[in-house]
Amino acid sequence: MTSPDPVVDRATKLLKDFSEMERTIVRGEYLDDSGRCPFCKSERIEGIGKTNMDVNEYSSLIRCYACDKEWWDIYKLSRIEVEAWDV
Ligand SMILES: [Zn+2]
Repeated sequence: MTSPDPVVDRATKLLKDFSEMERTIVRGEYLDDSGRCPFCKSERIEGIGKTNMDVNEYSSLIRCYACDKEWWDIYKLSRIEVEAWDV
């Protein structure tokens, strides 16, 4: 076994960092517009009915019919609205 080339090593690390940065951007875009697949940007996405309820958190499994990827949309309780407090 030869020792790893430090230049290749650094390039690999940079590439890993970049793709992580890209993933962060994609996640941000999806949070702004959750009507499009975060992987291929198709609008052919749909909740497939698999959901999970946790304390203050709700998850729904979403599927893209264009690229066949699946992911969880996760919702957190953001506010409450009450018709009347004296109920
Ligand atoms: Zn897709």
